[in-house]
Amino acid sequence: MDKSIPTQLPLYIDGQWIQSDSKEWLDVTNPATGETLTRAPYTTPEELRNAVISAKKAFSEWKNTPIPTRARIMLKYQALLKEHQEPLARILCEETGKTFEDAKGDIWRGIEVVEHAANIATLMMGETVENVASAIDCYSYLQPIGVCAGITPFNFPAMIPLWMFPMAIACGNTFILKPSEQDPITPCKLAELFEEAGAPKGILQVVHGGRNQVDLLLEDPDIKAISFVGSVPVGRHIYQTGTQYLKRVQAFAGAKNHMVVMPDANKNAAINNIIGSSVGAAGQRCMAISVAVLVGEAQQWTPEIRDVMAKVKPGHWKNQDSDYGPLISPAARERVLGYIEKGKSEGADCLLDGSKFSVTDFPNGNWVGPTLFANVTADMSIYTDEIFGPVLCLVNVDSLDDAIQLVNTSPYGNGTSIFTASGAVARKYQHEILVGQVGINIPIPVPLPFFSFTGWRASFYGDQHAYGKQAVRFYTETKTVTARWFDSDIEHAEHANMTIH
Ligand code: NAD
Repeated sequence: MDKSIPTQLPLYIDGQWIQSDSKEWLDVTNPATGETLTRAPYTTPEELRNAVISAKKAFSEWKNTPIPTRARIMLKYQALLKEHQEPLARILCEETGKTFEDAKGDIWRGIEVVEHAANIATLMMGETVENVASAIDCYSYLQPIGVCAGITPFNFPAMIPLWMFPMAIACGNTFILKPSEQDPITPCKLAELFEEAGAPKGILQVVHGGRNQVDLLLEDPDIKAISFVGSVPVGRHIYQTGTQYLKRVQAFAGAKNHMVVMPDANKNAAINNIIGSSVGAAGQRCMAISVAVLVGEAQQWTPEIRDVMAKVKPGHWKNQDSDYGPLISPAARERVLGYIEKGKSEGADCLLDGSKFSVTDFPNGNWVGPTLFANVTADMSIYTDEIFGPVLCLVNVDSLDDAIQLVNTSPYGNGTSIFTASGAVARKYQHEILVGQVGINIPIPVPLPFFSFTGWRASFYGDQHAYGKQAVRFYTETKTVTARWFDSDIEHAEHANMTIH
């Protein structure tokens, strides 16, 4: 076990790492071995309130801190994250079971957001119009909104916290992070490095817990905005409750992402990308491809998809040959096994069944092998529900129009992709599809931080999305000034008596 993991996780409140007074604690386990890594407290209401009070106090100074100073902290933070990427990735592997490469990617995608946050001065430029009326000018500023809070899921314990607090803080806000209780160690390490980068006391706080702690944050009148990433039912609850308390809320939720495969596609690229994007990270990605829609002749590739997928082997992260790791918890594994059984009983053809998969030397890991269902139809629960495991459904359709209709009928709208050699097909797909992130011959089209992460429909509740210009809009208020100066005052200015006070 990593020696830098403490036996009890502290809270980070008012610039101090403190032990919680909570009577309720939760074990954080290694999903590949079942061993306990540490335990995390369910933060008490008093401790939560202290975090909010400290963040509110810190805001009064931080909002007036010059933008270049705020940007320089992000520059230093980016350098520290790069320097510590590998040790951080090892901790991330311990608590998530991800492969080492995947863990480094989780951190890297977060580092890119920190780089973006370092450009905050240009991102926060307002607008100006001269002479909106005679001798009257109009201009706008973006100003921070106050204390913001972030609630994050287990599946990207580095990237998703880093989607949130660097942008919020660079805008001049202060931030309370409530990471997933399933893997809160990495987020604590992120906060330690942020402190090392020179972040003043109180601008970032880290509290632990689950539903009750989140509800207290949603109700707290001093928190002005909530960023959430997680499942659909919780996302709806967060959006409804947060807005009921008159907060600004952005809630990124679950998904069921389709890849449409046209018969003219580059066959090898399409098949390899189907496999990597469906079972990579054990399917625990909100942008994972969980449905491949085979159009016409592409249906004949089913046996080859099966053969390539059969070669994929989960395993422990220290084994470099492991293609992906375990599921996050025994409960998550049970849930996925339940769907595999449902898929069989609903009549889909189970071409690969990973439910009995085990890994030598790791009998307590939450393993599920790659699982493939063919001839899946839109009424089956393996098609309608987000399984969040290494399970791929193949659906057959006759035409591009049928594929578009299928995708647009699904309630989710996080990501989709199309594999084709035809520009006309790709153009029609990108134009007509009701999904917020579209890949053309790219399986997982996650936008880089100068764009925004733009899920639609049941995959997102709110208006402004994560990172990019939209995050700056989300974490700021616009102040518009209309100014008039009188010409008659010029003469007075020129001849005014210079009295020294
Ligand atoms: P989750 O919804 O169970 O938990 C997310 C966060 O909400 C955690 O911090 C948790 O403590 C808290 N929470 C859980 N239940 C709560 C409740 N009843 N009330 C208030 N807070 C509660 O999600 P998860 O299992 O950690 O993550 C996986 C889900 O996240 C998947 O559905 C995945 O698609 C989604 N996800 C979406 C995106 C996206 O950008 N759209 C990105 C990553 C993950």
